[in-house]
Amino acid sequence: MQTITELLGEHGPLAQHLSGFAPRAQQQAMAEQVIRTLEKDGLLIAEAGTGTGKTFAYLVPALLHCQGSGKKVMISTGTKNLQDQLYHRDLPTVRDALGVSTTVALLKGRANYLCHYRLEMQEGRRTRPQQQDQLARIRAWSRQTKRGDTAELSAVPEDSPVWPMVTSTSDNCLGGDCPAYSECFVMQARKDAQEADVIVVNHHLFFADMALRDEGFGEVLPGVNAFIFDEAHQLPEVASVFFGLNFSSRQLQDLGRDTLIEVHAEAPDEDRMQPCLTALDKAARDFRLALGVDNRRAPWKELATQTSVHDSAENLLTILNRLAELLDGLAQRGKGLERCWRRALELRVQLGQFLVGDEPLTADSYEEDNATESIESTETGVPGSQVHIQWFETHSRGFVLHMTPLEIHETFRSYVDKQRSAWIFTSATLAVGDSFTHFARNLGLDDAASQRWDSPFDFARQALLYVPTDLPQPNTPDYTTAVVEAARPVINAAGGRTFFLLTSHRALREVARQLEGSIDFPLLVQGTLTRPELLERFRELGNAVLIGTSSFWEGVDVRGEALSCVVIDKLPFSSPGEPVLQARLEAMREQGLNPFFDHQVPQAVITLKQGVGRLIRDVQDSGVLMICDPRLFGKSYGRIFRNSLPPMPVTRDAADVKHFFEVHRN
Ligand code: SF4
Repeated sequence: MQTITELLGEHGPLAQHLSGFAPRAQQQAMAEQVIRTLEKDGLLIAEAGTGTGKTFAYLVPALLHCQGSGKKVMISTGTKNLQDQLYHRDLPTVRDALGVSTTVALLKGRANYLCHYRLEMQEGRRTRPQQQDQLARIRAWSRQTKRGDTAELSAVPEDSPVWPMVTSTSDNCLGGDCPAYSECFVMQARKDAQEADVIVVNHHLFFADMALRDEGFGEVLPGVNAFIFDEAHQLPEVASVFFGLNFSSRQLQDLGRDTLIEVHAEAPDEDRMQPCLTALDKAARDFRLALGVDNRRAPWKELATQTSVHDSAENLLTILNRLAELLDGLAQRGKGLERCWRRALELRVQLGQFLVGDEPLTADSYEEDNATESIESTETGVPGSQVHIQWFETHSRGFVLHMTPLEIHETFRSYVDKQRSAWIFTSATLAVGDSFTHFARNLGLDDAASQRWDSPFDFARQALLYVPTDLPQPNTPDYTTAVVEAARPVINAAGGRTFFLLTSHRALREVARQLEGSIDFPLLVQGTLTRPELLERFRELGNAVLIGTSSFWEGVDVRGEALSCVVIDKLPFSSPGEPVLQARLEAMREQGLNPFFDHQVPQAVITLKQGVGRLIRDVQDSGVLMICDPRLFGKSYGRIFRNSLPPMPVTRDAADVKHFFEVHRN
């Protein structure tokens, strides 16, 4: 039997079956470490630089680990796109090459599967003409689809308001009481996942289930022998969202809409419901107004004592109570109405919890609450509950109230210990310099083995880091203008072919305004087209300049000459005005830690590494990285950032940039 290194070697099955497969020592070493971790149920944090081929470095061991052993591996990716790529492309490729019979399933969150019941409930409802057209397409597709995955129907945009009407949430799914249960796509996907050796999920789904939100595969988890997280640098952020509580105007609107549909179908004689839902809508809008006209994100304590906020929140609570009472009287008439009643109860309890500042309830607590059919306030002693940060965000038409855990490491670690499996966390950006402390501490993985495999690319030859001199400090008012002026000659030398990555939307607008009509290359600006459309245009044009913020810093792969220059305006520190960050920094200060060096710098280093990773995607690629921020050399902590970048030559002279492009174009 061949070793992992041989399987991934120049005479192995991957090299034989895959054209263009290049054996890499880093990939083989990582795969060996992964298989050892799988065999001993270990904990591994693995950073694999760009080009290592980390996907195959965990897929090969994962498939072999399951083959004929009855073991089950769950692989979680950062996005649904990566999930699809893994399931539809990478897994079949590796499985065929290895000649193994390991079974594989793809599982997404509920919102990705057509719900027959909700589609049926839309029948005869009045909607806008465009939505009617989209519903007709969905109906036609529903008769032929085998998996009901909404990604199959590209004719209806991903963000169409029609999708929430015809997909389910854990709130509105009828489960075993559903008339369409036997043909339900969500249930089918869960069943497939239960039977497969390898399950591909995404981080949102994983944490939704871990936080007992019943998103789709809770029953699968106990049987899993190994968890592999790709793009693992995203985990702390995603976990924070799911271990907290969100109460939003959107949830109220959805409940109002679903209640109306159910009442029309099951209780048309109930004439008190429409006035109650109208009052709920008005109360939600009044509460939004009480939160202030501006769109913002801020700590709740800024508003909590204001009389108008308190009164409008109490009014909202009273009307939610009224709705729950009305639905209580109707719940016997149908499962849909019963679900609406339970949702009204949950929302009422959540709002009550938020207003008194108690810890969020878990799903278990709600079940206990509902079992007694009580709408009175419940016990809040959640086992393992932690300190939460209360904050709110407002946008033009709505609001969200958040309770975000201050830390998630204890909750996450207790879950890791409970599962007794192998846990592998990988990404191109987990370490700061050589240290994994920041990532490990965030998830409670201090005792995990950790290892870095550097990119096999020849950065010394393929890349150049340019840091201009004479730029003002980033907090000066004309900083963005100075960045644009410094970047112009670099963009010209590159012949366009540039990603201009900004750290804020304000800077994005400013740079777009200044470059518009003043460069000789096509300009593509985030927000003018969808991300895939912008990337397609960028690749096609071959000499474009693309201006983007956070969504272009990671998960973007443009190989070849179309992308030969990346300009970054600032070191990507998170905004200190963010309420969650504020509270976390304050807590670190109280614990005697240094929040700047223990949290803000490591976080910014990891984000910067993501942005930098866009430049060199292949052995043939070459390009210039321009980081405009003078702090890279002007501050002592700049060294931490520099030491975390791939080993490329550095220049402060724009003439070197011109020379680099001249050499690399010949
Ligand atoms: S079981 Fe739930 S998701 Fe499935 S069809 Fe019924 S309501 Fe929709």
